[in-house]
Order: sequence, then C-alpha cells, then structure tokens
Amino acid sequence: MIQGSTELVAIVGSPIAQVKSPENFNRWFADQQQNVAMIAIDLAQTALGDFVQTLRGWQNLRGCVVTVPYKQLLAGCLDSVSERSAALRSINVIRREADGRLVGDIVDGEGFLNAARKHGFDPQDKQALVIGTGGVGSAIAYSLCQAGVSRLVISDISPERVEALGKLLRSAFPTIAISASPTSLEPFDLVVNASPVGMSAASDEGPMPLPGVLLATLKATTLVADVVTSPAVTPFLAFARRLGCPIQTGPQMALAQLGNLGHFMGVTPLEI
Ligand code: NAD
Repeated sequence: MIQGSTELVAIVGSPIAQVKSPENFNRWFADQQQNVAMIAIDLAQTALGDFVQTLRGWQNLRGCVVTVPYKQLLAGCLDSVSERSAALRSINVIRREADGRLVGDIVDGEGFLNAARKHGFDPQDKQALVIGTGGVGSAIAYSLCQAGVSRLVISDISPERVEALGKLLRSAFPTIAISASPTSLEPFDLVVNASPVGMSAASDEGPMPLPGVLLATLKATTLVADVVTSPAVTPFLAFARRLGCPIQTGPQMALAQLGNLGHFMGVTPLEI
C-alpha cells in the first residue's frame, strides 16, 4: 500500500507495460517490509525536458530506472554520470541526490556479471565473446573489460558498430586484447548473445546468432549466456545446453541486475 510517507522509485520508458522491474522491486520491498514502492511511467518524448526538471524537485523520489527509448537521450540531461556511462553515452539508472542533483550510471553489464558470478564465472584473465554491440552488448563488453578479462572479441551484423565499440574499448582498456569476428569458439570461457536474435522463437529451433560452422567449435566448458528474456531458453541456449555447456538466461541477468539498480538508487543492498 502506497502511503503519504512511502518513498518512491520509478521506471521510465515508452511503452512501459511490458517491464518486469516494478513487480520484482515491489515484491522485494514488501517482503523486506520497506516503505518504498516503484511506479512505472510511460513518458511521451515531448515531455522529457519537463520530466528531468520534475525529477530534480521530486523530494520523495530516490531514483529512476531508465529503459528504451530514453537510455541515450537522458544520459545527456543529468548533472553527472559514471565513467562508463560517459564512454557509452547511455544510462539505465538515475539517483536523485537529496539536493536534487541527478546522477546516472549504466549497470546492464554489472547485472550480467552478477548473474555470471552466480554461475561460478570469474572474469579475471578470461576470454570472452560478445555478439551484438548495441546498448546492452556495449555495456556488457565494457563491464567485462573493467572486470579484467584478458581478451575480448566482439561481433555484430553492423561493421560500423563493431568498429565504434572496438575503438572506444581499445582507448579505455589499452592492455586488453580487443578484436572482432571470431574464427573459432574454442578459446572462449564465455560466449554471450547480446543481440535480439532468438527473441520470441520456439526454444529448440529458430535463428542462431552465429553460423553453424562456428557453433560446431563450441566446447562444453564454456559459459553460454543470452540477454533475450523471452523465451528464457533461446534456441542458442538450448543448443549449448544439449552440448553440456553451463547456460545463463536473460531473466537471470534481469533478476541479478535488481540489486545493482536498487543499490545505485539507495533503496536495496547490492546483493538481493
Ligand atoms: P540494440 O538494438 O541497441 O542492439 C542490438 C544489436 O544487435 C545491434 O547492434 C544489432 O546490429 C545487433 N544484431 C542484430 N542481429 C544480429 C545478428 N544476427 N548477429 C549479430 N548482431 C546482431 O538492442 P539492446 O538494447 O542492446 O537490446 C538487445 C537485447 O537485450 C534485446 O533483446 C533486449 O530485450 C535484451 N535486454 C535484456 C536485458 C536483460 O536484463 N536480460 C536488459 C535489457 C535488454
């Protein structure tokens, strides 16, 4: 029950009805008997400037999760952002400081790593392949570099995106071997599909994010992850599971990211 004394957090995007954060956060707040609630805001783009001003003055609001299509647009409207948000020009969470200042970060990659650590994956000195270099893939790639992988390979159907992310990462992490277009999956400790390939597909058949000739080189000890949330087990994950690989699903990443989002806004611990 939202009361006059309830502190609020929000999630903003458009459309918004499909997001799962409100039910996940509100369940956690209720279970922990916290007088905090999350509301979902479907915002028209024309109202974005006014929204930022409202956030500054909204005194019982601790922060706001940001989803499509405002992750890039809002990154340029805040008082300060993390180093990775500045590099990626994207945010997915805002904290409202007590004086109304707005601070942003992007924690998609941290959420991904949280989930991967639960599978026993320690990124230090590991080799990783990230397929898809859009908003989520870039954030995962950046966090993997921050967490100390020794080699990162990125791939995308858009050569321009691979080029741009490669340039950004090489400049931020000059000691990490960063390249594009893998020729074999054999060296990788982690392979992540961060593209939408497999979305809405039947779980054991459907499009794959890599060609068959590369998939044939996947070894059974590699952690195979997907960011797609529906279906939870994509055709790519089903293939990896049949091979005996440990798998990480999109919903596992989304759930693991709750702590990162809540902690940044100051309403949950990092691990929830
Ligand atoms: P985006 O549009 O910013 O990026 C997608 C990228 O994938 C693009 O660069 C595109 O060129 C690339 N791509 C498309 N088809 C490809 C293919 N066949 N091979 C290689 N690359 C390909 O999208 P985004 O915001 O990064 O979201 C990607 C996915 O992540 C979506 O399915 C979204 O629902 C999901 N997502 C999951 C979580 C989670 O917590 N699990 C969080 C946010 C988004």
